[in-house]
Formats: sequence, structure tokens, C-alpha cells
Amino acid sequence: MANVKLTNVKKVYSNNVEVMRDINLDIQQGEFIVFVGPSGCGKSTLLRMISGLEEISDGTLEIDNQDVTHVPPSLRGVAMVFQSYALYPHMTVYDNMAFSLQIAKMNKQEIDAQVRRAAEMLQLTPYLDRLPKALSGGQRQRVAIGRAIVRRPKVFLFDEPLSNLDAALRVATRMEIANLKESMPDSTMIYVTHDQIEAMTLADRIVLLSAGNIEQVGSPLELYSNP
Ligand code: ADP
Ligand code: ADP
Repeated sequence: MANVKLTNVKKVYSNNVEVMRDINLDIQQGEFIVFVGPSGCGKSTLLRMISGLEEISDGTLEIDNQDVTHVPPSLRGVAMVFQSYALYPHMTVYDNMAFSLQIAKMNKQEIDAQVRRAAEMLQLTPYLDRLPKALSGGQRQRVAIGRAIVRRPKVFLFDEPLSNLDAALRVATRMEIANLKESMPDSTMIYVTHDQIEAMTLADRIVLLSAGNIEQVGSPLELYSNP
């Protein structure tokens, strides 16, 4: 639950390729923001800089009005959902969701409450005892989302969460994410995709990226209606 502010953010990889030129963006608390653009335009780099998985070369990042430009990922209050679910194969759905809270030494009752709340939200309650291999791709991705929810992050980061799913599951899981947005209206969500339909159905505001620059920012209606 927080605002996110990027000021003059640049990214130069070690091979001296400048992939982000000068990004300025103000994301409000509770907004669902979607970064859209063609492959290679820098969407993932931008998201990874917000998460802290990638260093910011220049400029500043604020989350919840705090400068976190040099703060490690675990202390930023963000949780990321990746394209590949990366679940722990030997752990049940329950334990996959509980694990990061156990590491953080949260007490058992509180962990149980968080896991059950997330499972309800994602309709995973019947599957808590299953191993990931006994789930469909869509269910696995919901577990990955559940792992993010239980941490009660200030900001959710989604990196193309639907792109490994087949068409039918993609639509169903997209609707789950839309429901998530409804059930957590105060949470800030930043979502990366190359799919315009995903952007249009999920976004409050779309950020159109091209070759390391922000081309346009606006609501789906503003961006995709006829000029
Ligand atoms: P997108 O997510 O939009 O597909 P990326 O953020 O993955 O784009 O990549 C943006 C650009 O940065 C691409 O040209 C890519 O080749 C380059 N790039 C990404 N990661 C690295 C890296 N670790 N080192 C060097 N260049 C990279
Ligand atoms: P541990 O495995 O750490 O000893 P317990 O088995 O004592 O944990 O379970 C603690 C709580 O976590 C229980 O009250 C239970 O509700 C919940 N729990 C643990 N594993 C599962 C599971 N696979 N499915 C549903 N609930 C579980």
C-alpha cells in the first residue's frame, strides 16, 4: 500500500548499453499500472529495478515516500510474481505459501491465517495439501500469486505472469488477477506484459514503453480509443 515514484531513472548494463533513458513516473497508492511494449523495450528491466533485483544506474526510486534506490529487495516491501512459477516442487501448496513467512519467523497462527486468507482469495483452499506437480498451470500460477499475497507487500510486481499459460487458462487467470485487484483496492500493482488485451482489461493506467523511453501514459480508453 504505497505510492511509487521514479525520478530521472536510467539503466546502463555492464556492456554499456543504455536500456532506460530518463524515466519519470508517479504511481499512486492503489493504482494498477501496466507496462506495455514490444519485446526488448525494457519492461522487465524497469520492473526489476523497482524490485531491487537490478541496480538503478542513475536517478531515484521512492516507495511509500522513502528513497529506496539503494535499499535491498527484501526491505522494499515489494513482492514479485514471475513468468515461471518457480514453486518448491517438494513442498505442498500450503508450505509453498507459508515458507517465506516461516523464514521471517512469523508465528504459526498468523502464518496459518495469512495462507488461508490468500488461498480463499485465489480459490486454492481445496488444493492446500497438493504438491505443485498435481496442479494445472493456472493453479500453479495462482500459488505463485498466493506466495506474494501472504507477505502483505506494499507493492505487487507482476512480470508477464500469464505468458506461460495456454489461451484458456490465460483468460481464467487474468480474471483471477482482476478479482485480486477488486479484493485489495489499496494495494499498488505494477504489471508487465506485451499483450494489449491484458493491459486493457487490467490497467487503471497503461505506460507504453519503446526502446527505453516512456512513449505515452494514460487510461486504456485514452490510449486505445480512436484519436
Ligand atoms: P523486455 O522486458 O521489454 O523484453 P528487457 O528489460 O528484458 O526488455 O530488456 C531490455 C534491453 O536490455 C534488451 O535490449 C536486452 O537485450 C537488454 N538486457 C536485458 N538484460 C540485460 C543484461 N543483464 N545485460 C545486458 N543487457 C541486458
Ligand atoms: P509443522 O509442519 O510446522 O509442524 P503443523 O503441522 O503443526 O506445522 O501445522 C500448523 C498449522 O498449519 C495447522 O494448524 C494447520 O492448520 C496448518 N497446516 C500445516 N500444513 C497444512 C496443510 N498441508 N494443509 C492445511 N493446513 C496446514
